[in-house]
Amino acid sequence: MLIVAIKKTKRGVKRRNSPKAKTRLSPNGTRFAEAAACLAEIGKGFHARGWVLGTSGNFSAVISREPLHLAITSTGLDKGSLTPAQFLEMDEAANVCRGDGRPSAEALLHLAIARGVDAGAVLHTHSVWSTVLSGSHASQGGIALEGYEMLKGLEGVRTHKHREWLPILENSQDMVELGEHVSKTLRDSPGIHGFLLREHGLYTWGAGLQEAKRHVEILEFLMEVLVRSGAAQSA
Ligand SMILES: [Zn+2]
Repeated sequence: MLIVAIKKTKRGVKRRNSPKAKTRLSPNGTRFAEAAACLAEIGKGFHARGWVLGTSGNFSAVISREPLHLAITSTGLDKGSLTPAQFLEMDEAANVCRGDGRPSAEALLHLAIARGVDAGAVLHTHSVWSTVLSGSHASQGGIALEGYEMLKGLEGVRTHKHREWLPILENSQDMVELGEHVSKTLRDSPGIHGFLLREHGLYTWGAGLQEAKRHVEILEFLMEVLVRSGAAQSA
Protein backbone atom coordinates (compact mmCIF):
# COMPACT_ATOMS: atom_id res chain seq x y z
CA MET A 1 0.00 0.00 0.00
CA LEU A 2 2.85 2.27 0.86
CA ILE A 3 4.44 1.72 -2.55
CA VAL A 4 1.21 2.49 -4.30
CA ALA A 5 0.83 5.67 -2.29
CA ILE A 6 4.36 6.79 -3.21
CA LYS A 7 3.73 6.07 -6.86
CA LYS A 8 0.55 8.08 -6.77
CA THR A 9 2.36 10.96 -5.15
CA LYS A 10 5.12 10.82 -7.73
CA ARG A 11 2.61 10.87 -10.56
CA GLY A 12 0.82 13.74 -8.90
CA VAL A 13 4.04 15.73 -8.50
CA LYS A 14 5.03 14.99 -12.05
CA ARG A 15 1.69 16.24 -13.33
CA ARG A 16 1.86 19.43 -11.26
CA ASN A 17 5.39 20.13 -12.44
CA SER A 18 4.78 19.23 -16.06
CA PRO A 19 5.61 22.19 -18.27
CA LYS A 20 2.70 24.33 -19.28
CA ALA A 21 3.96 23.93 -22.83
CA LYS A 22 2.30 20.54 -22.81
CA THR A 23 -1.12 22.08 -22.58
CA ARG A 24 -0.24 25.23 -24.50
CA LEU A 25 -1.18 25.09 -28.16
CA SER A 26 1.39 25.23 -30.94
CA PRO A 27 1.15 28.25 -33.29
CA ASN A 28 -0.82 26.07 -35.74
CA GLY A 29 -3.01 24.88 -32.88
CA THR A 30 -3.83 28.43 -31.86
CA ARG A 31 -4.61 29.45 -35.43
CA PHE A 32 -6.71 26.29 -35.85
CA ALA A 33 -8.71 27.00 -32.68
CA GLU A 34 -9.34 30.62 -33.69
CA ALA A 35 -10.31 29.68 -37.25
CA ALA A 36 -12.64 26.88 -36.08
CA ALA A 37 -14.42 29.20 -33.64
CA CYS A 38 -14.86 31.90 -36.27
CA LEU A 39 -15.93 29.46 -39.02
CA ALA A 40 -18.52 27.88 -36.70
CA GLU A 41 -20.11 31.29 -36.09
CA ILE A 42 -20.07 32.14 -39.80
CA GLY A 43 -21.59 28.75 -40.66
CA LYS A 44 -24.44 29.14 -38.17
CA GLY A 45 -25.18 32.57 -39.64
CA PHE A 46 -25.28 31.17 -43.18
CA HIS A 47 -27.63 28.39 -42.04
CA ALA A 48 -29.97 30.98 -40.53
CA ARG A 49 -30.03 32.72 -43.92
CA GLY A 50 -31.00 29.43 -45.65
CA TRP A 51 -27.73 29.17 -47.59
CA VAL A 52 -26.45 25.84 -46.16
CA LEU A 53 -29.51 23.72 -45.34
CA GLY A 54 -29.59 19.95 -44.97
CA THR A 55 -25.89 19.55 -44.03
CA SER A 56 -24.86 21.24 -47.30
CA GLY A 57 -21.94 23.64 -47.71
CA ASN A 58 -18.46 23.62 -46.26
CA PHE A 59 -16.02 26.17 -44.90
CA SER A 60 -12.27 26.37 -44.54
CA ALA A 61 -9.44 28.68 -43.48
CA VAL A 62 -5.72 28.41 -44.17
CA ILE A 63 -3.80 27.99 -40.93
CA SER A 64 -0.36 27.53 -42.48
CA ARG A 65 0.89 28.14 -46.00
CA GLU A 66 4.16 26.18 -46.05
CA PRO A 67 3.18 23.40 -45.73
CA LEU A 68 -0.43 24.13 -46.68
CA HIS A 69 -2.79 23.21 -43.82
CA LEU A 70 -6.48 24.08 -43.63
CA ALA A 71 -9.09 24.07 -40.89
CA ILE A 72 -12.20 22.64 -42.57
CA THR A 73 -15.66 21.39 -41.66
CA SER A 74 -16.05 17.68 -41.10
CA THR A 75 -18.55 16.14 -43.54
CA GLY A 76 -22.28 15.65 -42.95
CA LEU A 77 -22.90 18.26 -40.25
CA ASP A 78 -25.98 20.34 -39.57
CA LYS A 79 -24.55 23.83 -40.05
CA GLY A 80 -27.22 25.28 -37.78
CA SER A 81 -25.53 23.81 -34.72
CA LEU A 82 -21.91 23.92 -35.86
CA THR A 83 -19.28 23.94 -33.08
CA PRO A 84 -15.49 24.50 -33.20
CA ALA A 85 -15.00 20.83 -32.21
CA GLN A 86 -16.50 19.77 -35.54
CA PHE A 87 -13.57 21.14 -37.54
CA LEU A 88 -10.58 19.21 -38.79
CA GLU A 89 -7.07 20.22 -39.68
CA MET A 90 -6.01 18.72 -42.99
CA ASP A 91 -2.83 18.84 -45.03
CA GLU A 92 -2.40 19.54 -48.74
CA ALA A 93 -3.28 15.92 -49.61
CA ALA A 94 -6.55 16.17 -47.60
CA ASN A 95 -5.18 13.92 -44.84
CA VAL A 96 -6.62 14.71 -41.40
CA CYS A 97 -3.93 15.89 -38.93
CA ARG A 98 -6.22 17.07 -36.14
CA GLY A 99 -9.79 16.38 -35.03
CA ASP A 100 -12.32 13.58 -35.49
CA GLY A 101 -14.30 12.79 -38.61
CA ARG A 102 -13.41 13.16 -42.25
CA PRO A 103 -13.37 16.16 -44.55
CA SER A 104 -16.03 16.65 -47.18
CA ALA A 105 -15.30 15.21 -50.62
CA GLU A 106 -15.19 18.84 -51.74
CA ALA A 107 -12.08 19.41 -49.60
CA LEU A 108 -10.05 19.02 -52.80
CA LEU A 109 -11.80 22.10 -54.22
CA HIS A 110 -10.90 24.11 -51.12
CA LEU A 111 -7.27 23.08 -51.58
CA ALA A 112 -7.36 24.01 -55.28
CA ILE A 113 -8.69 27.49 -54.40
CA ALA A 114 -6.30 28.02 -51.48
CA ARG A 115 -3.42 27.26 -53.86
CA GLY A 116 -4.83 28.88 -56.99
CA VAL A 117 -5.62 32.35 -55.65
CA ASP A 118 -3.67 32.32 -52.36
CA ALA A 119 -6.98 32.49 -50.50
CA GLY A 120 -6.89 32.65 -46.71
CA ALA A 121 -10.46 31.34 -46.42
CA VAL A 122 -12.88 29.49 -48.73
CA LEU A 123 -16.64 29.41 -48.18
CA HIS A 124 -19.16 27.28 -50.07
CA THR A 125 -22.94 27.68 -49.96
CA HIS A 126 -25.93 25.90 -51.56
CA SER A 127 -28.53 28.65 -51.78
CA VAL A 128 -31.77 28.58 -53.76
CA TRP A 129 -30.52 31.54 -55.81
CA SER A 130 -27.20 30.02 -56.83
CA THR A 131 -28.94 26.74 -57.67
CA VAL A 132 -31.49 28.48 -59.91
CA LEU A 133 -29.02 30.79 -61.67
CA SER A 134 -26.30 28.21 -62.21
CA GLY A 135 -28.90 26.04 -63.96
CA SER A 136 -30.55 28.73 -66.07
CA HIS A 137 -27.21 30.26 -67.20
CA ALA A 138 -25.14 27.11 -67.61
CA SER A 139 -25.23 27.29 -71.41
CA GLN A 140 -23.69 30.79 -71.24
CA GLY A 141 -20.80 29.55 -69.10
CA GLY A 142 -21.38 32.15 -66.40
CA ILE A 143 -23.28 35.15 -65.15
CA ALA A 144 -22.32 38.80 -65.59
CA LEU A 145 -23.06 41.06 -62.61
CA GLU A 146 -22.95 44.72 -63.54
CA GLY A 147 -24.39 48.06 -62.45
CA TYR A 148 -25.13 47.20 -58.82
CA GLU A 149 -23.87 49.29 -55.90
CA MET A 150 -23.39 46.12 -53.85
CA LEU A 151 -20.59 45.06 -56.22
CA LYS A 152 -18.39 47.46 -54.24
CA GLY A 153 -18.43 44.93 -51.40
CA LEU A 154 -16.14 42.72 -53.50
CA GLU A 155 -12.47 43.27 -52.73
CA GLY A 156 -10.84 45.78 -55.08
CA VAL A 157 -14.11 46.91 -56.72
CA ARG A 158 -14.60 50.69 -56.56
CA THR A 159 -17.61 51.35 -58.77
CA HIS A 160 -21.04 49.96 -59.55
CA LYS A 161 -19.96 49.97 -63.20
CA HIS A 162 -17.65 47.03 -62.52
CA ARG A 163 -18.54 43.89 -64.49
CA GLU A 164 -18.12 40.80 -62.35
CA TRP A 165 -18.01 37.49 -64.20
CA LEU A 166 -19.20 34.51 -62.19
CA PRO A 167 -18.17 31.39 -64.14
CA ILE A 168 -20.40 28.29 -64.03
CA LEU A 169 -18.61 24.94 -63.94
CA GLU A 170 -20.33 21.67 -64.75
CA ASN A 171 -21.05 19.80 -61.52
CA SER A 172 -19.36 16.45 -60.92
CA GLN A 173 -18.86 13.86 -58.19
CA ASP A 174 -15.30 13.27 -59.41
CA MET A 175 -13.50 15.72 -57.15
CA VAL A 176 -10.06 15.15 -58.66
CA GLU A 177 -11.35 16.11 -62.09
CA LEU A 178 -13.46 18.96 -60.70
CA GLY A 179 -10.46 20.24 -58.70
CA GLU A 180 -8.45 20.43 -61.95
CA HIS A 181 -11.33 22.25 -63.61
CA VAL A 182 -11.42 24.73 -60.72
CA SER A 183 -7.65 25.33 -60.97
CA LYS A 184 -7.94 25.94 -64.72
CA THR A 185 -10.85 28.37 -64.22
CA LEU A 186 -8.83 30.33 -61.65
CA ARG A 187 -5.88 30.53 -64.06
CA ASP A 188 -8.06 31.50 -67.05
CA SER A 189 -10.17 34.12 -65.22
CA PRO A 190 -7.84 36.17 -63.04
CA GLY A 191 -9.55 38.61 -60.71
CA ILE A 192 -12.81 36.72 -60.26
CA HIS A 193 -14.22 36.60 -56.73
CA GLY A 194 -16.10 33.32 -57.00
CA PHE A 195 -17.66 30.69 -59.26
CA LEU A 196 -20.76 28.51 -59.38
CA LEU A 197 -21.09 24.77 -59.75
CA ARG A 198 -24.08 23.98 -61.96
CA GLU A 199 -27.29 23.43 -59.95
CA HIS A 200 -25.10 23.00 -56.88
CA GLY A 201 -23.84 26.23 -55.32
CA LEU A 202 -21.36 29.04 -54.87
CA TYR A 203 -17.67 29.01 -54.02
CA THR A 204 -16.04 32.25 -52.96
CA TRP A 205 -13.00 33.19 -50.95
CA GLY A 206 -11.02 36.02 -49.41
CA ALA A 207 -7.64 36.96 -48.03
CA GLY A 208 -9.14 36.28 -44.61
CA LEU A 209 -12.35 34.95 -43.08
CA GLN A 210 -14.16 38.27 -42.85
CA GLU A 211 -13.43 39.10 -46.49
CA ALA A 212 -14.66 35.67 -47.60
CA LYS A 213 -17.83 36.08 -45.50
CA ARG A 214 -18.44 39.49 -47.06
CA HIS A 215 -18.07 37.97 -50.54
CA VAL A 216 -20.69 35.33 -49.76
CA GLU A 217 -23.09 38.03 -48.55
CA ILE A 218 -22.48 40.22 -51.61
CA LEU A 219 -22.72 37.45 -54.20
CA GLU A 220 -25.74 35.81 -52.57
CA PHE A 221 -27.42 39.22 -52.41
CA LEU A 222 -26.76 39.92 -56.09
CA MET A 223 -27.92 36.47 -57.21
CA GLU A 224 -31.13 36.91 -55.23
CA VAL A 225 -31.64 40.31 -56.86
CA LEU A 226 -31.15 38.82 -60.34
CA VAL A 227 -33.71 36.09 -59.77
CA ARG A 228 -36.30 38.18 -57.90
CA SER A 229 -36.12 41.09 -60.36
CA GLY A 230 -36.35 38.87 -63.39
CA ALA A 231 -33.13 40.45 -64.68
CA ALA A 232 -31.54 37.01 -64.88
CA GLN A 233 -33.85 36.06 -67.76
CA SER A 234 -32.48 38.81 -69.97
CA ALA A 235 -28.89 38.76 -68.65
ZN1 LIG B 1 -21.39 21.53 -52.23
